[in-house]
Amino acid sequence: MPSTKALKNAQYIELGGYQYWPVLVPRGIRLYTYEQVPGFLRENPYITDGYRAYLTSRLCIKSLFILSNETVNIWSHLLGFLLFFLLGLYDMIAVLPVIGATREDYVIYSIGLFCYQVCMLCSVGYHLFCCHRSEKTSRRWMALDYAGISIGTLGCYVPGIFYAFYCNNYWRQVYLVMVLAMTLGLFFAQIHPHYLTKQWQKLRSVIFCSVAAYGLVPTLHWIWLSGGFGSAVVQVFAPRVLVMYLFAAAAFVFYLSKVPERYFPGQLNYVGSSHQVWHILVVLMFYWWHQSALFITSFRHTNPCPDYPQHA
Ligand SMILES: [Zn+2]
Repeated sequence: MPSTKALKNAQYIELGGYQYWPVLVPRGIRLYTYEQVPGFLRENPYITDGYRAYLTSRLCIKSLFILSNETVNIWSHLLGFLLFFLLGLYDMIAVLPVIGATREDYVIYSIGLFCYQVCMLCSVGYHLFCCHRSEKTSRRWMALDYAGISIGTLGCYVPGIFYAFYCNNYWRQVYLVMVLAMTLGLFFAQIHPHYLTKQWQKLRSVIFCSVAAYGLVPTLHWIWLSGGFGSAVVQVFAPRVLVMYLFAAAAFVFYLSKVPERYFPGQLNYVGSSHQVWHILVVLMFYWWHQSALFITSFRHTNPCPDYPQHA
């Protein structure tokens, strides 16, 4: 039972379909239905209840500890951030020294993990502060969430290109520069005042898909340079790239289609909606790609480049 003091500063509210789960909510926070929230929060009509709205920054932070339709979104990426932070420490101390990592490997790992952590934190920020009473503030956090996704994508590209073209410095530099230019281009696109509007939703999806699909260019080039599908290195790593793309495609299908809540409107307000699945798939995808990078690093250290007996 909560203490008397906590009761004084709080109220019990009913959570729509979860009316048998009365939840203690700090004073000043209440949950709204889809019809009651301001237009900029109406992104998904199949999520009918459990919205936080009209909150100050302080109450947004307090709402971290209540059950709303953003709770799983916030905590999935907060725990994702912790995962990549601890994974970074563990790798630096226990894994990389064992596989004989060079200074370059440490730098590449740090860039990858740092990008994943930034992506997770930007997402936490958006889902925590999207219910701010100022639409401008909410939109700013949304822009940051989008920027975080492009940084997360960069975090996938950098180790991928670095190890795929480990034995070909020229193409490694070409692709790294192209990916950096693409990420910068994306930032500038996001500054455009129309970028985050509903009218540009389709264009945003097309741009996002193009940025992800662009990875097929260096992948196919890498397969060709490595001697085709028959070569040992391709047979070991191409399936890993394929699984990565399957994660990305599945995540994006959930994100766009609003399945499963589309078929159960109002029943998946708190747990089980498409955005939550997208969040979890993104964490799994980053984790998979990180483990794949570790795998290819140890492969590269045990199988020197064919043209250069020792990698310079
Ligand atoms: Zn999200």
